[in-house]
Amino acid sequence: MSDKNPSPEALARFGGAIALPTVSNVDYAKTDFAPFDAFKAYLKGAFPLFHKRTELTVVNNYALVYRWKGRDAGALPLLLCAHYDVVPVEAGTETAWTHPPFSGAAAEGRVWGRGALDVKCQITAQMEAAEGLMAAGFIPPRDIYFAYGHDEEVGGAEGAQKIAERFAAQGLRFEGVLDEGGSVITDAIKGARCPLALIGIAEKGHASYLLTVTDKGGHSSTPPAHSALGRLARLIVRVEGHPLPRRLTPALRAMLVGIKDALGGGFRLAVGAPGLFKPVILKALAKTPATNALTRTTFALTMAKASDAPNVLPQQAQALVNVRLLHGDSSESVRRYIEKLVGREATVQVILPHEPSKVSPADSGVFIKLKALVSEVFPGAIAAPYLVTGGTDARKYYAVSDNVYRFTPAQLSTQEVQTMHNTNESLSIENYGKMILFYRRFVEGE
Ligand SMILES: [Zn+2]
Repeated sequence: MSDKNPSPEALARFGGAIALPTVSNVDYAKTDFAPFDAFKAYLKGAFPLFHKRTELTVVNNYALVYRWKGRDAGALPLLLCAHYDVVPVEAGTETAWTHPPFSGAAAEGRVWGRGALDVKCQITAQMEAAEGLMAAGFIPPRDIYFAYGHDEEVGGAEGAQKIAERFAAQGLRFEGVLDEGGSVITDAIKGARCPLALIGIAEKGHASYLLTVTDKGGHSSTPPAHSALGRLARLIVRVEGHPLPRRLTPALRAMLVGIKDALGGGFRLAVGAPGLFKPVILKALAKTPATNALTRTTFALTMAKASDAPNVLPQQAQALVNVRLLHGDSSESVRRYIEKLVGREATVQVILPHEPSKVSPADSGVFIKLKALVSEVFPGAIAAPYLVTGGTDARKYYAVSDNVYRFTPAQLSTQEVQTMHNTNESLSIENYGKMILFYRRFVEGE
């Protein structure tokens, strides 16, 4: 099997998908659906064979489910997932891009634009892989489903959630589910001697907590010692200064055992020695925000509001703490914790809680197959289970499978990962070729 770079035609098909600005809106009713309609039509035109050989069901107008029938109708199917909505480009930053954000340009060895990494690459790479196999007359050993949501970036309630509900209503079960999440990261952990292929087996939960401090208000020329905003500021410092303790969860332990051979002396020794294990490891992981987030429930103060005028004392000051929940904590236990911290100074309101996901096994047939494909497509990388710190659509599919994994088969540096939701989002052409190969081998099966 060749892992040569994809053809110019394949890159153009990928670029064409990026060029459609399918930006999802937090307020679903305000979404501009015209690009979404165009995207559906675009896929049909760009991948005609795929659309001929699969059966398409459109769920809730925009979520796409394709079924590619396999040889064995009795075998549980596999599900490949992705989403085709993207986050907006921050106004005023467009000109900072090397190539315009909705250009889909293939230049300097990369394909550029919003969605290149997150995550239109998965959709077009999966379709390229399937079309390649279809053209060769291949029929997969079992049914393959492809499910593409259209609102993952704003919670997935209208896309993946509806797809999962539909599958469940049909009584469908899947042998395994593969969505976005981890990747092959060249510099994931300091001291790692080789790239780490981090395959997400679980994801953290999330919730926001609105802190509200109230006061009499009045004219700012005769202020009290502390306005509502001043009192709120002290609470904010208190919350940030009292993070929840670090913990070694089963998912984190599985990851550390998986990557220990990639790590240098001290770290490796610590993973092997249970007594030493916890304190040394947790301290080491605390050194960067990305690894610190694996060890604890995190607090991020993200929004605040007080008076609307310079000379008006606020009657109400509010701040929002966005919390990512580690397994073992819940939105309720964290509410109690924050309430205790702020005491009577503020009220605490929980907004949109999502509990931590179930944990998929790191020894299922599908996981073992993913590991084998990593060695084949990314020689030299070590694959390990991983806790995804962000939220994805994948969690919704626990309703129809126990084996839900989160892995985008591309080899990235931390710096490349940071272009997601950011300026200069792009994917190397070499990586795009590897993605196509990975999905091809995944579909080919046993
Ligand atoms: Zn995404």
